[in-house]
Amino acid sequence: MSDFDKIPVAILGATGTVGQRFVQQLANHPWFIVVALCGSDRSTGKSYAEACDWRLDGDIPEYAAEMVIRPLSPDVPARIVFSALPFEAARMIEPLFAEAGHAVCTNASAFRQVENVPLLIPEVNADHLALIDNQRDQYGWAGCIVASPNCTTTGVAMPLKALDAAFGLRTVVSVSMQAISGAGYPGISSMDIHDNVLPYIRGEEEKLEPETRLLLGIMDGRERIPHSLALSAHCNRVPVIDGHTSCVSVRLDSSPSPEEAAKVLADFRGCEIVRGLPSAPERPIVVRTEEDRPQPRLDRNAEGGMAVSIGRVRECNVFDLRFVSLVHNTMRGAASGSILNAELLVRAGRLN
Ligand code: NAP
Repeated sequence: MSDFDKIPVAILGATGTVGQRFVQQLANHPWFIVVALCGSDRSTGKSYAEACDWRLDGDIPEYAAEMVIRPLSPDVPARIVFSALPFEAARMIEPLFAEAGHAVCTNASAFRQVENVPLLIPEVNADHLALIDNQRDQYGWAGCIVASPNCTTTGVAMPLKALDAAFGLRTVVSVSMQAISGAGYPGISSMDIHDNVLPYIRGEEEKLEPETRLLLGIMDGRERIPHSLALSAHCNRVPVIDGHTSCVSVRLDSSPSPEEAAKVLADFRGCEIVRGLPSAPERPIVVRTEEDRPQPRLDRNAEGGMAVSIGRVRECNVFDLRFVSLVHNTMRGAASGSILNAELLVRAGRLN
Protein backbone atom coordinates (compact mmCIF):
# COMPACT_ATOMS: atom_id res chain seq x y z
CA MET A 1 0.00 0.00 0.00
CA SER A 2 1.43 3.43 -0.89
CA ASP A 3 1.52 6.09 1.84
CA PHE A 4 -1.20 7.88 -0.09
CA ASP A 5 -3.62 4.97 0.46
CA LYS A 6 -2.84 4.42 4.12
CA ILE A 7 -5.26 5.25 6.94
CA PRO A 8 -4.29 8.53 8.65
CA VAL A 9 -3.73 8.20 12.41
CA ALA A 10 -2.79 10.55 15.26
CA ILE A 11 -1.07 9.97 18.61
CA LEU A 12 -2.23 11.79 21.77
CA GLY A 13 0.44 12.05 24.47
CA ALA A 14 3.07 11.26 21.83
CA THR A 15 6.04 12.38 23.95
CA GLY A 16 5.52 9.98 26.88
CA THR A 17 6.69 6.41 27.50
CA VAL A 18 3.78 4.80 25.66
CA GLY A 19 3.56 7.67 23.14
CA GLN A 20 7.17 7.03 22.10
CA ARG A 21 6.38 3.35 21.53
CA PHE A 22 3.50 4.38 19.28
CA VAL A 23 5.82 6.68 17.32
CA GLN A 24 8.35 3.85 16.98
CA GLN A 25 5.89 1.06 16.16
CA LEU A 26 3.89 3.08 13.63
CA ALA A 27 6.96 3.93 11.52
CA ASN A 28 6.47 2.02 8.26
CA HIS A 29 3.20 0.43 9.39
CA PRO A 30 1.67 -1.26 6.32
CA TRP A 31 -1.85 0.18 6.85
CA PHE A 32 -1.44 3.34 8.97
CA ILE A 33 0.38 6.64 8.48
CA VAL A 34 0.92 9.09 11.33
CA VAL A 35 -0.37 12.52 10.33
CA ALA A 36 -0.48 14.23 13.74
CA LEU A 37 1.33 14.12 17.07
CA CYS A 38 -0.55 15.83 19.88
CA GLY A 39 0.56 16.88 23.35
CA SER A 40 -0.09 19.09 26.31
CA ASP A 41 0.41 22.87 26.40
CA ARG A 42 4.01 22.14 27.43
CA SER A 43 4.78 20.60 24.02
CA THR A 44 2.37 22.27 21.61
CA GLY A 45 4.15 24.22 18.85
CA LYS A 46 7.52 22.51 19.38
CA SER A 47 9.00 19.95 17.00
CA TYR A 48 8.67 16.39 18.28
CA ALA A 49 12.46 16.12 18.65
CA GLU A 50 12.49 19.25 20.75
CA ALA A 51 9.50 18.34 22.95
CA CYS A 52 10.37 14.71 23.54
CA ASP A 53 13.01 13.18 25.80
CA TRP A 54 13.46 10.12 23.54
CA ARG A 55 14.21 7.04 25.66
CA LEU A 56 13.92 4.12 23.23
CA ASP A 57 16.73 2.35 21.35
CA GLY A 58 17.77 4.05 18.13
CA ASP A 59 16.87 7.50 16.88
CA ILE A 60 13.49 9.16 16.69
CA PRO A 61 11.96 7.87 13.44
CA GLU A 62 12.66 10.30 10.63
CA TYR A 63 8.98 10.92 9.87
CA ALA A 64 8.35 12.17 13.42
CA ALA A 65 11.41 14.23 14.38
CA GLU A 66 10.36 17.48 12.69
CA MET A 67 6.58 17.12 13.08
CA VAL A 68 5.17 20.00 15.09
CA ILE A 69 3.18 18.94 18.17
CA ARG A 70 -0.46 19.91 17.87
CA PRO A 71 -2.87 20.70 20.68
CA LEU A 72 -5.22 17.97 21.91
CA SER A 73 -8.05 19.16 19.73
CA PRO A 74 -10.31 16.79 17.77
CA ASP A 75 -9.87 18.61 14.45
CA VAL A 76 -6.94 16.34 13.50
CA PRO A 77 -7.16 14.88 9.98
CA ALA A 78 -7.02 11.29 11.30
CA ARG A 79 -9.51 8.42 11.31
CA ILE A 80 -7.83 6.54 14.16
CA VAL A 81 -6.45 8.24 17.26
CA PHE A 82 -4.06 6.39 19.56
CA SER A 83 -4.18 7.74 23.10
CA ALA A 84 -1.31 7.57 25.58
CA LEU A 85 -2.75 10.25 27.84
CA PRO A 86 -2.80 10.16 31.63
CA PHE A 87 -6.12 9.25 33.28
CA GLU A 88 -7.56 12.71 33.86
CA ALA A 89 -6.65 14.13 30.45
CA ALA A 90 -8.02 10.97 28.80
CA ARG A 91 -11.28 11.25 30.70
CA MET A 92 -11.82 14.79 29.46
CA ILE A 93 -10.46 14.53 25.92
CA GLU A 94 -11.11 11.05 24.49
CA PRO A 95 -14.93 11.43 24.29
CA LEU A 96 -14.47 14.65 22.30
CA PHE A 97 -12.46 12.76 19.70
CA ALA A 98 -15.02 9.91 19.59
CA GLU A 99 -17.81 12.42 19.17
CA ALA A 100 -15.93 14.04 16.29
CA GLY A 101 -15.87 10.69 14.47
CA HIS A 102 -12.45 9.28 15.38
CA ALA A 103 -11.90 5.71 16.52
CA VAL A 104 -10.00 6.23 19.77
CA CYS A 105 -7.73 3.32 20.72
CA THR A 106 -6.69 4.14 24.25
CA ASN A 107 -4.20 2.90 26.81
CA ALA A 108 -5.57 5.04 29.60
CA SER A 109 -7.75 3.47 32.27
CA ALA A 110 -10.42 6.20 32.20
CA PHE A 111 -13.01 4.19 30.20
CA ARG A 112 -11.79 0.61 30.58
CA GLN A 113 -14.56 -0.43 32.94
CA VAL A 114 -17.34 1.58 31.33
CA GLU A 115 -20.23 -0.64 30.29
CA ASN A 116 -20.28 0.18 26.58
CA VAL A 117 -16.54 0.35 25.97
CA PRO A 118 -14.86 -2.77 24.58
CA LEU A 119 -11.84 -3.68 26.70
CA LEU A 120 -9.88 -5.65 24.16
CA ILE A 121 -7.15 -8.17 23.67
CA PRO A 122 -8.02 -9.20 20.11
CA GLU A 123 -7.01 -12.86 20.51
CA VAL A 124 -9.07 -13.12 23.72
CA ASN A 125 -12.34 -11.29 23.06
CA ALA A 126 -12.57 -9.79 19.56
CA ASP A 127 -16.35 -10.30 19.70
CA HIS A 128 -16.64 -7.60 22.41
CA LEU A 129 -16.28 -5.05 19.58
CA ALA A 130 -20.08 -5.33 19.33
CA LEU A 131 -20.24 -2.96 22.33
CA ILE A 132 -19.38 -0.14 19.92
CA ASP A 133 -22.96 -0.28 18.66
CA ASN A 134 -24.16 0.48 22.20
CA GLN A 135 -21.78 3.45 22.41
CA ARG A 136 -23.11 4.83 19.19
CA ASP A 137 -26.75 4.33 20.27
CA GLN A 138 -26.21 5.76 23.73
CA TYR A 139 -23.96 8.72 23.00
CA GLY A 140 -24.68 9.35 19.32
CA TRP A 141 -20.97 9.22 18.52
CA ALA A 142 -19.81 8.78 14.95
CA GLY A 143 -16.52 7.46 16.32
CA CYS A 144 -15.87 5.17 19.27
CA ILE A 145 -13.57 4.38 22.19
CA VAL A 146 -11.85 1.01 22.39
CA ALA A 147 -9.60 0.39 25.39
CA SER A 148 -6.52 -1.75 25.93
CA PRO A 149 -6.26 -3.37 29.36
CA ASN A 150 -3.75 -2.53 32.05
CA CYS A 151 -0.32 -3.87 31.05
CA THR A 152 -0.13 -6.45 33.86
CA THR A 153 -3.70 -7.57 33.15
CA THR A 154 -2.72 -8.37 29.55
CA GLY A 155 0.03 -10.77 30.63
CA VAL A 156 -2.30 -12.59 32.99
CA ALA A 157 -5.54 -12.58 30.97
CA MET A 158 -4.06 -14.16 27.85
CA PRO A 159 -2.99 -17.46 29.49
CA LEU A 160 -6.11 -17.45 31.67
CA LYS A 161 -8.26 -17.29 28.53
CA ALA A 162 -6.54 -20.35 27.09
CA LEU A 163 -6.90 -22.27 30.37
CA ASP A 164 -10.51 -21.20 30.88
CA ALA A 165 -11.54 -22.37 27.41
CA ALA A 166 -9.94 -25.78 27.96
CA PHE A 167 -10.44 -26.51 31.66
CA GLY A 168 -12.79 -23.91 33.18
CA LEU A 169 -11.36 -21.27 35.49
CA ARG A 170 -12.51 -20.81 39.08
CA THR A 171 -9.91 -19.02 41.22
CA VAL A 172 -6.72 -17.10 40.48
CA VAL A 173 -4.00 -15.71 42.73
CA SER A 174 -1.50 -13.53 40.93
CA VAL A 175 1.65 -11.79 42.17
CA SER A 176 3.29 -9.26 39.83
CA MET A 177 6.82 -7.90 39.55
CA GLN A 178 6.34 -4.83 37.40
CA ALA A 179 8.92 -2.84 35.46
CA ILE A 180 9.80 0.79 36.08
CA SER A 181 8.68 1.92 32.61
CA GLY A 182 5.14 1.02 33.67
CA ALA A 183 5.15 4.17 35.78
CA GLY A 184 5.90 6.47 32.81
CA TYR A 185 8.80 8.89 32.41
CA PRO A 186 10.63 10.10 34.48
CA GLY A 187 8.57 7.88 36.78
CA ILE A 188 9.91 6.54 40.06
CA SER A 189 13.01 8.08 41.61
CA SER A 190 16.13 5.91 41.40
CA MET A 191 16.55 6.38 45.16
CA ASP A 192 13.22 4.62 45.64
CA ILE A 193 13.62 1.70 43.26
CA HIS A 194 17.34 0.87 43.15
CA ASP A 195 18.16 -2.12 45.39
CA ASN A 196 14.50 -2.33 46.34
CA VAL A 197 11.00 -3.72 45.78
CA LEU A 198 7.95 -1.50 46.19
CA PRO A 199 5.04 -3.61 47.45
CA TYR A 200 2.36 -1.15 46.37
CA ILE A 201 1.29 0.37 43.04
CA ARG A 202 -1.59 2.75 43.45
CA GLY A 203 -4.78 1.51 41.79
CA GLU A 204 -3.14 -1.45 40.09
CA GLU A 205 -4.77 -4.35 41.94
CA GLU A 206 -8.11 -2.58 41.60
CA LYS A 207 -7.62 -2.65 37.81
CA LEU A 208 -6.32 -6.18 37.37
CA GLU A 209 -9.18 -7.93 39.11
CA PRO A 210 -12.24 -6.42 37.33
CA GLU A 211 -10.47 -6.01 33.99
CA THR A 212 -9.67 -9.73 33.88
CA ARG A 213 -13.32 -10.57 34.57
CA LEU A 214 -14.41 -8.27 31.73
CA LEU A 215 -11.85 -9.64 29.26
CA LEU A 216 -12.88 -13.24 29.96
CA GLY A 217 -16.56 -12.34 29.94
CA ILE A 218 -18.97 -13.40 27.22
CA MET A 219 -21.30 -11.42 25.00
CA ASP A 220 -25.00 -12.14 25.35
CA GLY A 221 -26.44 -10.29 22.40
CA ARG A 222 -25.17 -6.77 22.94
CA GLU A 223 -24.58 -7.23 26.66
CA ARG A 224 -21.21 -8.18 28.17
CA ILE A 225 -21.42 -10.65 31.05
CA PRO A 226 -18.21 -10.59 33.14
CA HIS A 227 -16.59 -13.91 34.10
CA SER A 228 -17.44 -15.03 37.63
CA LEU A 229 -13.90 -16.11 38.57
CA ALA A 230 -12.43 -15.08 41.91
CA LEU A 231 -9.12 -13.27 41.55
CA SER A 232 -6.69 -12.00 44.16
CA ALA A 233 -3.86 -9.79 42.83
CA HIS A 234 -0.68 -8.55 44.51
CA CYS A 235 1.20 -5.90 42.50
CA ASN A 236 4.84 -4.96 43.13
CA ARG A 237 7.32 -2.63 41.42
CA VAL A 238 10.83 -4.04 40.84
CA PRO A 239 14.04 -2.62 39.34
CA VAL A 240 13.50 -3.93 35.78
CA ILE A 241 13.30 -1.43 32.90
CA ASP A 242 10.73 -3.18 30.65
CA GLY A 243 8.64 -6.33 31.13
CA HIS A 244 6.07 -7.24 33.76
CA THR A 245 6.39 -10.71 35.31
CA SER A 246 3.54 -12.40 37.19
CA CYS A 247 3.48 -15.62 39.24
CA VAL A 248 0.01 -17.10 38.87
CA SER A 249 -1.79 -19.95 40.68
CA VAL A 250 -5.13 -21.20 39.36
CA ARG A 251 -7.94 -23.48 40.46
CA LEU A 252 -9.77 -25.07 37.52
CA ASP A 253 -12.95 -27.08 37.01
CA SER A 254 -10.84 -30.05 35.92
CA SER A 255 -7.29 -31.01 36.92
CA PRO A 256 -5.06 -31.21 33.86
CA SER A 257 -1.45 -32.32 34.16
CA PRO A 258 1.14 -29.56 33.74
CA GLU A 259 2.03 -31.11 30.36
CA GLU A 260 -1.59 -30.92 29.16
CA ALA A 261 -1.89 -27.32 30.35
CA ALA A 262 1.41 -26.33 28.72
CA LYS A 263 0.22 -27.80 25.43
CA VAL A 264 -3.06 -25.87 25.61
CA LEU A 265 -1.12 -22.66 26.27
CA ALA A 266 1.39 -23.28 23.47
CA ASP A 267 -1.39 -24.15 21.00
CA PHE A 268 -3.45 -21.04 21.81
CA ARG A 269 -4.02 -18.97 18.68
CA GLY A 270 -7.01 -16.88 19.76
CA CYS A 271 -9.94 -15.50 17.81
CA GLU A 272 -9.86 -16.39 14.13
CA ILE A 273 -10.45 -12.81 12.93
CA VAL A 274 -7.08 -11.70 14.33
CA ARG A 275 -4.93 -14.09 12.34
CA GLY A 276 -2.73 -12.47 9.73
CA LEU A 277 -3.24 -8.91 10.98
CA PRO A 278 0.02 -6.96 10.56
CA SER A 279 0.79 -6.81 14.31
CA ALA A 280 -0.67 -10.22 15.26
CA PRO A 281 2.00 -12.62 16.49
CA GLU A 282 2.11 -16.12 15.05
CA ARG A 283 2.09 -17.44 18.64
CA PRO A 284 0.28 -15.14 21.12
CA ILE A 285 1.65 -17.35 23.92
CA VAL A 286 5.19 -18.72 23.86
CA VAL A 287 5.79 -21.52 26.36
CA ARG A 288 9.35 -21.83 27.69
CA THR A 289 10.47 -25.22 28.96
CA GLU A 290 13.73 -24.12 30.65
CA GLU A 291 13.41 -24.18 34.44
CA ASP A 292 14.52 -20.53 34.80
CA ARG A 293 12.48 -18.78 32.08
CA PRO A 294 10.77 -16.48 31.20
CA GLN A 295 13.03 -13.61 32.24
CA PRO A 296 12.41 -9.95 31.31
CA ARG A 297 15.83 -9.39 29.70
CA LEU A 298 15.68 -12.59 27.65
CA ASP A 299 12.02 -12.96 26.78
CA ARG A 300 10.19 -9.60 26.71
CA ASN A 301 10.74 -9.23 22.95
CA ALA A 302 9.29 -12.64 22.03
CA GLU A 303 7.37 -12.37 18.73
CA GLY A 304 8.37 -8.72 18.38
CA GLY A 305 7.19 -7.93 21.92
CA MET A 306 3.67 -9.21 21.11
CA ALA A 307 3.77 -12.64 22.76
CA VAL A 308 3.12 -13.40 26.40
CA SER A 309 5.87 -15.77 27.53
CA ILE A 310 4.91 -18.53 29.97
CA GLY A 311 7.16 -20.84 31.91
CA ARG A 312 7.39 -23.09 34.96
CA VAL A 313 3.97 -24.64 34.32
CA ARG A 314 3.69 -27.03 37.22
CA GLU A 315 1.39 -28.49 39.83
CA CYS A 316 0.22 -26.30 42.68
CA ASN A 317 0.06 -27.66 46.22
CA VAL A 318 -2.92 -25.45 47.08
CA PHE A 319 -4.75 -24.96 43.75
CA ASP A 320 -4.39 -27.00 40.51
CA LEU A 321 -1.62 -25.30 38.54
CA ARG A 322 0.91 -22.50 38.75
CA PHE A 323 3.07 -20.75 36.19
CA VAL A 324 5.09 -17.62 35.46
CA SER A 325 3.94 -15.11 32.85
CA LEU A 326 5.87 -12.25 31.23
CA VAL A 327 4.57 -9.43 29.03
CA HIS A 328 6.36 -6.45 27.49
CA ASN A 329 4.42 -3.65 29.18
CA THR A 330 4.88 -0.90 26.58
CA MET A 331 4.60 -3.22 23.54
CA ARG A 332 1.87 -5.89 23.91
CA GLY A 333 0.80 -4.30 27.20
CA ALA A 334 0.30 -0.84 25.69
CA ALA A 335 1.18 0.69 22.29
CA SER A 336 1.50 -2.43 20.11
CA GLY A 337 -1.60 -3.94 21.75
CA SER A 338 -3.56 -0.82 20.81
CA ILE A 339 -2.23 -0.92 17.26
CA LEU A 340 -3.51 -4.50 17.02
CA ASN A 341 -6.90 -3.27 18.32
CA ALA A 342 -6.95 -0.68 15.54
CA GLU A 343 -6.09 -3.28 12.91
CA LEU A 344 -8.99 -5.36 14.23
CA LEU A 345 -11.31 -2.35 13.90
CA VAL A 346 -10.27 -2.01 10.27
CA ARG A 347 -10.74 -5.70 9.49
CA ALA A 348 -14.11 -5.76 11.25
CA GLY A 349 -15.30 -2.74 9.21
CA ARG A 350 -15.74 -0.64 12.34
CA LEU A 351 -14.07 2.60 11.24
CA ASN A 352 -16.24 5.62 10.59
P1 NAP B 1 4.09 9.32 30.67
O1 NAP B 1 5.40 8.76 30.26
O2 NAP B 1 4.02 10.09 31.93
O3 NAP B 1 3.54 10.21 29.47
C1 NAP B 1 2.36 10.97 29.60
C2 NAP B 1 2.06 11.75 28.32
O4 NAP B 1 0.85 12.47 28.50
C3 NAP B 1 3.12 12.74 27.92
O5 NAP B 1 3.28 12.60 26.54
C4 NAP B 1 2.53 14.11 28.27
O6 NAP B 1 2.67 15.00 27.20
C5 NAP B 1 1.06 13.86 28.29
N1 NAP B 1 0.42 14.62 29.37
C6 NAP B 1 0.76 14.70 30.66
N2 NAP B 1 -0.08 15.47 31.34
C7 NAP B 1 -0.99 15.91 30.44
C8 NAP B 1 -2.14 16.76 30.53
N3 NAP B 1 -2.52 17.31 31.68
N4 NAP B 1 -2.85 16.98 29.41
C9 NAP B 1 -2.48 16.41 28.27
N5 NAP B 1 -1.40 15.62 28.11
C10 NAP B 1 -0.68 15.36 29.20
O7 NAP B 1 3.01 8.17 30.83
P2 NAP B 1 2.92 6.73 30.07
O8 NAP B 1 3.59 5.72 30.89
O9 NAP B 1 3.29 6.92 28.65
O10 NAP B 1 1.36 6.42 30.21
C11 NAP B 1 0.38 6.97 29.33
C12 NAP B 1 -0.94 6.27 29.56
O11 NAP B 1 -0.81 4.90 29.22
C13 NAP B 1 -1.42 6.32 31.02
O12 NAP B 1 -2.82 6.46 31.05
C14 NAP B 1 -0.99 4.97 31.55
O13 NAP B 1 -1.79 4.54 32.63
C15 NAP B 1 -1.17 4.08 30.33
N6 NAP B 1 -0.35 2.86 30.28
C16 NAP B 1 0.98 2.93 30.51
C17 NAP B 1 1.74 1.76 30.39
C18 NAP B 1 3.24 1.75 30.62
O14 NAP B 1 3.83 0.66 30.61
N7 NAP B 1 3.89 2.89 30.83
C19 NAP B 1 1.13 0.57 30.03
C20 NAP B 1 -0.24 0.54 29.80
C21 NAP B 1 -0.97 1.70 29.93
P3 NAP B 1 3.60 16.29 27.19
O15 NAP B 1 5.02 15.81 27.12
O16 NAP B 1 3.15 16.95 25.94
O17 NAP B 1 3.30 17.09 28.44
